[in-house]
Amino acid sequence: MTLAEFAPQFAAFAEKYDQFIICGHIRPDGDSIGSCITIAERLRLMGKHPRIYYEGDLSHYPWLTQPVEILDEKTLSRATCCRFGWIMVDCAEPARTGEAAVCADLAETSVCIDHHTNMGEYADYNLIDPGATSASEIIFRLFKALDYPFNPTMATALFTGIAFDTGGFRHSSMKPEIFGILQELSKQDVPITRVMNGLFHTKSMLEMKVLSVIMRKARLYHGRIIVSWLENSDFLKLGATSDDCEGAVADLAEVEEAEAAVFLRELPNGQVRVNMRSKHFINVAAAAKAFGGGGHVRAAGCTLSGPMLLAREAVISELAKQLPEDF
Ligand code: AMP
Ligand code: MN
Ligand code: MN
Repeated sequence: MTLAEFAPQFAAFAEKYDQFIICGHIRPDGDSIGSCITIAERLRLMGKHPRIYYEGDLSHYPWLTQPVEILDEKTLSRATCCRFGWIMVDCAEPARTGEAAVCADLAETSVCIDHHTNMGEYADYNLIDPGATSASEIIFRLFKALDYPFNPTMATALFTGIAFDTGGFRHSSMKPEIFGILQELSKQDVPITRVMNGLFHTKSMLEMKVLSVIMRKARLYHGRIIVSWLENSDFLKLGATSDDCEGAVADLAEVEEAEAAVFLRELPNGQVRVNMRSKHFINVAAAAKAFGGGGHVRAAGCTLSGPMLLAREAVISELAKQLPEDF
């Protein structure tokens, strides 16, 4: 659906229901949290009863205000027992929402607002734009089309979403219009310094130590693919968990020689979660898709069965297929 087609459908959907469940993908990031908050805040101001389902840690985003009741794995079923509309943001398919995937069957009507490489249209109404920097950008445009005004809660949430998904306005997804959007949002008292420092320049002491181990283990494959990994034994030694290495792949990608960066972590169940980034020509979404994952051309992820060594070799050889012959 185009924005012009979707906007009136969204307005009618917002009018039709009293209760809403809003969710993004598991392990919520700045864009999915910012998108959920903005829609929840709008529905709340309309006198509705929206709730947000998050599956994962929110503690890295202390500047974001949660305007409505938050649901988790334990409280979700309480919200799905009545008539509700379902809103899925920053998420291409119900399975990526975690436990909230049950809403696909339980909701009377569903809408999806997303910018991932198109994996299909799963909701009743879909606004999907793979050319958008972020779901937050799409929501900004939707609210403009519907004349929904922004307040500081919404503006801070959307600013965070756009800043997060563009890596601080650096990624190749950036376009001139984004600066106009940021200017308009900034007028609503967005705490820009806090947002940017919180997103890109804040690590706990433990996260810093974990990063130093990741950097020590990093290797350059085929001269262009930087790879590092942490196994369960590393986490045990460091007294760390999977949450303590969330941004590591971006730090690996800073290595000048690297066209692609890969970070693999062993999960407690022995599976291996993979984060991938690229700079110019490798399509990491295509590589992630080969392992049942997804994402964007320059940032994607997937989860493989272990062991680590085999997962690492499989991912490296999949990415190496995209290197020019002379590598
Ligand atoms: P990450 O490396 O976790 O920061 O993810 C980079 C991008 O790929 C984000 O847009 C994610 O939503 C997407 N992504 C990560 N893992 C998966 C997966 N298993 N399936 C689909 N998309 C994914
Ligand atoms: Mn996301
Ligand atoms: Mn996003």
